[in-house]
Amino acid sequence: MAKKSRTRRRDATTSIAKRLTGITNARLRGRRGLFDLTFDDIGHIRTIRAAGRARRSAGGFDAKGGLVLPAFVDPHLHLDLAYSVELVKPNKSGTLLEAIRLWDEAKRRLSADNVRERAIRAINAEVSFGTGFIRTHVDVGTGAGLRLTEGVLAAREACRHLCDIQIAVFPQDGILRDPGALEQMRAAIEMGCDVVGGIAHNERTDQDSRRHIDLLFELAREFNRDIDCHIDETDDPDSRCTEYLAAQTIHHGWQGRVTASHVCALSSYDNAHARKVINLLREARVHVVTNPPVNLHLQGRYDRYPKRRGLTRVTELLAAGVNVAAGQDCIADPFYPLGTGQMLDVAHMLFHADHLSTPPQMEQALDTVTENAARALRLSSYGIRAGARGCVVALPCEDVHTALRTRPRPIAVIRDGRLLFR
Ligand SMILES: [Zn+2]
Repeated sequence: MAKKSRTRRRDATTSIAKRLTGITNARLRGRRGLFDLTFDDIGHIRTIRAAGRARRSAGGFDAKGGLVLPAFVDPHLHLDLAYSVELVKPNKSGTLLEAIRLWDEAKRRLSADNVRERAIRAINAEVSFGTGFIRTHVDVGTGAGLRLTEGVLAAREACRHLCDIQIAVFPQDGILRDPGALEQMRAAIEMGCDVVGGIAHNERTDQDSRRHIDLLFELAREFNRDIDCHIDETDDPDSRCTEYLAAQTIHHGWQGRVTASHVCALSSYDNAHARKVINLLREARVHVVTNPPVNLHLQGRYDRYPKRRGLTRVTELLAAGVNVAAGQDCIADPFYPLGTGQMLDVAHMLFHADHLSTPPQMEQALDTVTENAARALRLSSYGIRAGARGCVVALPCEDVHTALRTRPRPIAVIRDGRLLFR
């Protein structure tokens, strides 16, 4: 019989987190030996010194040689959808299109309270695995109305002591296909959402997809916001929205402020055209977010064999100097029935899906859910360095290889120097 676990696990939403003076005996990426970190009185990292060099004060957390990383960043999630698989019929074809249809039936009858409760559950799950920063999309349009936005905003407020959350207004059913959606997007931003979302490939024609992107930039300029657009989430080699998004990014001077989410079709382009698009993404400093679990699951659905993997060209983008991050995207919804909010699972799947298998590539895989994702969300004060926020996760393993191989639960999740979970 298994021994009773000694780990105490609490629901952090109901507890007052303990303030720490620092962390002792931490192993850090890319550095040999053990280190002691101290926090200042606002929970930022004050010092990082070789372990045992400085006098240790009481009230620190002993990492006991475990790997300490900056808190994970989930750059692409749908909190309004989380756990909605319980509310809809099964997705029989497994396609994106059937998922959108099933979700459309469900979302019209959801209350803001229902959305809030499921979102809080998902935030707690993500935080328990060490995520400190999330960008969620929220469905906005004439079908969803603003109830889903209300629910997600309320969940963010309820969990503000656990996690930083950026909310992108997401016109799931298109903007030109759903007259009235643009006004709802504007209203959602005025209610407190942060980022202009989009879904360029979900319009009726290529011309409408381009107009969709034009409207995103108009909105972004009106409110001075970043853009994060679902784009080319298809195996269709003729879906060519990403190059237009990158070109408009340069045209509007929005370099570094635009994220292209999914970009699956890039893998189905002719190699010469793919190279052109990758160069354009680099020139425009567009961030690319891949969602390995969901792309593997939803793409390749119209293939017999061999089946395409569905992810964008991650290794080629990274080699070209494009910032690539990886997201969970879905937790138990009509688009993807699995998903736990464990970002190490996401990096683990990326390892397999695009052969990020050498030791330096494993480091790159981990970057996609830490440093690269932080860059896409334009987080300031992120990382393990003096002056950064004390938002870190301690793992019961010594290196990145073992972290990816075993994907352990954290031994501590710390936010601004306060211990949330252990
Ligand atoms: Zn998405």
